[in-house]
Amino acid sequence: MNLKPRDESSELKALRSLNIRMNLPVKVKNYYTNLEKGFKGEQVLDGWLENLSFEKLVLNDLLLECNHTLFQIDTLLISPDTIYLFEVKNYEGDFFVEDDRWFSASRIEIKNPLLQLKRTESLSRRSLHEFGNKLPIESYLIFVNPEFQLYQAPLNLPIVFPTQLKRFIQNLKPKSSRLKETHFKLAEQLQSSPLIETPYNRLPDYDFNELKKGVSCVHCRSLDTSHTKMFLICKACGSSESYLTAILRTIEEFRVLFPNRKITTNEIYDWCNTTKTIKTIRNVLLENYEKIGQGRSAHYIVKE
Ligand SMILES: [Zn+2]
Repeated sequence: MNLKPRDESSELKALRSLNIRMNLPVKVKNYYTNLEKGFKGEQVLDGWLENLSFEKLVLNDLLLECNHTLFQIDTLLISPDTIYLFEVKNYEGDFFVEDDRWFSASRIEIKNPLLQLKRTESLSRRSLHEFGNKLPIESYLIFVNPEFQLYQAPLNLPIVFPTQLKRFIQNLKPKSSRLKETHFKLAEQLQSSPLIETPYNRLPDYDFNELKKGVSCVHCRSLDTSHTKMFLICKACGSSESYLTAILRTIEEFRVLFPNRKITTNEIYDWCNTTKTIKTIRNVLLENYEKIGQGRSAHYIVKE
């Protein structure tokens, strides 16, 4: 049971959209690439956890607070007899460890991810204790990328390497395979902690008029698309998608990038840069959003 499915953060959604609609500054582009990689890495672990054969609760991207400190848990797995905290890393390439310090192959020091894991674990212990948890807690740093190699790492670290992941998951065998009421209660409490999304502080400046308009391909994200009556066709990768779904996706992009701007027929028509008629766009909005006001002041909001 996956209580809180993993979803892209609004920041990742916004950067994904901006990346196809403007030239991102190099720093932002690197940050975006890392976010995208991190998200993919977490999905790899999600796939493995789905196959566990005992009852479990999986909570993703939990944002918790302890002593006025916010901290995030990539994946929290409640098994019948243990709570697992997983910090997922999608590092690629060669790295080595020297006296607790981590370096890339070109000797550039990186943040020691074990310190982050320790911090998360210690804060989580306190939080979980406050929620009345009695189960033992284990935390692991999970590397999911098969192209990752860490040299000179001591053997006893709480690290799972890509080649060990399958065995690690297979060895998660609780004594009992059933969850009890207390497990569900704990999960509920963790889920109901107030979630505050981090503000979009890494987004570059952007302006509606300067962004490239159009409906992008859902697979390769190219804006080089055309459409038939029913389908969006990508000229770059050849894939197709229902045109209605593609338009709705594009309206959502607009909402993420311009949360304070009103959704109007004209604006969405411009944003989609479509050869469909403005009437088609109006109908899509009417059918899928709630209309507020009439005439010139008419705009649309998400249906309750
Ligand atoms: Zn494509």
